[in-house]
Amino acid sequence: MKNTWSISTKAIHAGKISDPNGALVSPLSQSATFVFDSVEQGGARFSGDEQGYIYTRLGNPTTTELENKIAVLEGAEDAAATASGMAAVSSALLANLAQGDHVIASRTVYGCCFSLLTHQFERFGIESTFVDFTDIEKVRAAIKPNTKVLFCETPVNPHLEVYDLVAIAGLAKQHDVTSIVDNTFMTPVLQRPLEFGIDMVVHSATKYLNGHGDVVAGIVCGNKQIMEKVKFEIIKDIGGIISPHDAWLILRGMKTLDVRVQRHCDNAEKVADFLESHPKVAKVYYPGLDSHQGSEFIGTQMQRAGGVMAFELEADLKSSMKFVNSLELFSIAVSLGDAESLIQHPASMTHSPYTEEARAEAGITDNLIRISIGLENVEDIIEDLAAGLMRL
Ligand SMILES: *Cc1c(COP(=O)(O)O)cnc(C)c1O
Repeated sequence: MKNTWSISTKAIHAGKISDPNGALVSPLSQSATFVFDSVEQGGARFSGDEQGYIYTRLGNPTTTELENKIAVLEGAEDAAATASGMAAVSSALLANLAQGDHVIASRTVYGCCFSLLTHQFERFGIESTFVDFTDIEKVRAAIKPNTKVLFCETPVNPHLEVYDLVAIAGLAKQHDVTSIVDNTFMTPVLQRPLEFGIDMVVHSATKYLNGHGDVVAGIVCGNKQIMEKVKFEIIKDIGGIISPHDAWLILRGMKTLDVRVQRHCDNAEKVADFLESHPKVAKVYYPGLDSHQGSEFIGTQMQRAGGVMAFELEADLKSSMKFVNSLELFSIAVSLGDAESLIQHPASMTHSPYTEEARAEAGITDNLIRISIGLENVEDIIEDLAAGLMRL
């Protein structure tokens, strides 16, 4: 692999392990364990004197290929594949935290990251503060002597706010704190946080990296030292490893990563313009629009705005639900980054367990709709939305 290759070429070729039989596509190592020639060799593998596989929870050739590919794309020294995006988030955090430590997370984070930090970590004596990351001074003010991690995703669900990675990385370095960014919405095609000085990147590979809606998986990226800990302490002992079969499917999905992501963006840009100019739409949240807070980061921090957006209808709760139910092309589902366009209604779905006050505070209005724009023909996507809006 040449370092000068562009990301689309690397997405296809990086990390490939050559097959002794010359197979173009790497064979799937669907094996739990690996056979040694002798007891001595087994001993050498365990002691680390000899490189090689032992048992799939400690490493697997198919998994390694995926990890090497993502590490190259993100510009990381190493990567670890996990059973889910949440296994990636929890492994990255656990590798940096101990009892008595403090995490600063963005005010809005993926729902399960919020409950991981509050419901789980708090039980083990790790406290978290949630801050508005659009104001770096608020993040700075929240730093305490025991702060060990700054954690955020950008753009962040569901209003697609964008945070300044250079500022976050700078603050983290200044205070000797580890910065961790969830790059799920962007993929390394659109944004590479490590290039801005961020320490670690996590992904839900369930979304764009795999891109075909048939796998739940995650990725952690970082320097060699921290990834040793992630792989051979945290993941080894807690056990959230990826299935080699899932790693193989993601490797297949990633060959088209650049093509897919560009098409998601092409489609989403047109859909955002359509929605913004529609009289039945009150507001559109998409960093690709000049009206959005995140637009100033397009072309610098993030190449394009991605395929996810949210919008508010000129409608009440009941009509908003009716609108979602009335669409034909969109599937009503959570998740994102699939070939299929997906739609969800946060107030009655993802955020329904929240109290009314908590929903209001998070800006989850009754008329808010979240969509993940798929790879269908954009005119068909717009026609479906237009027909739904007509019925309002
Ligand atoms: C989906 C998602 C996760 C969780 O990933 P899973 O693969 O569902 O465990 C974390 N962060 C973001 C931004 C996500 O979209």
